[in-house]
Amino acid sequence: MAKSGGYTLVITFAYIDDIMTHDHHSRPQADPAPRNITIDRPNQLLIIEWEDGAYCEYPLPGIRYICPCAECRGGHEHMGKPIPPEDIFKTPPPGVSTELVDVKLVGNYGIQFFWADGHNAGLYTWKILRPLCPKMRR
Ligand SMILES: [Zn+2]
Repeated sequence: MAKSGGYTLVITFAYIDDIMTHDHHSRPQADPAPRNITIDRPNQLLIIEWEDGAYCEYPLPGIRYICPCAECRGGHEHMGKPIPPEDIFKTPPPGVSTELVDVKLVGNYGIQFFWADGHNAGLYTWKILRPLCPKMRR
């Protein structure tokens, strides 16, 4: 699903439309889903165009910084807590890779990132990502 063409990974959401046609149960209608996801590697950006028209450019270091897995959050008791919006502009400590090698959709409610250091435990739901949108163009 994730095509690796040169420097940019693009997921077009003909794919997710297809998923949604077949599975109406895992995403509440209130949460907007992405229409397009682009990984802009030269600029270190995750670009999401949402179905509600929002256009969001997330810095990849910030995406790694906010990794929602139990290990990065500091234990299971911290999971599910809202992530402070300013965290999307932070950079993880040295040794933590912010280089993305692959992305994978998880059901129709989230995305999983595969970092160059082998970490891939974080499940980034649309619910987590949407409120962290650093920029609104529309
Ligand atoms: Zn993590």
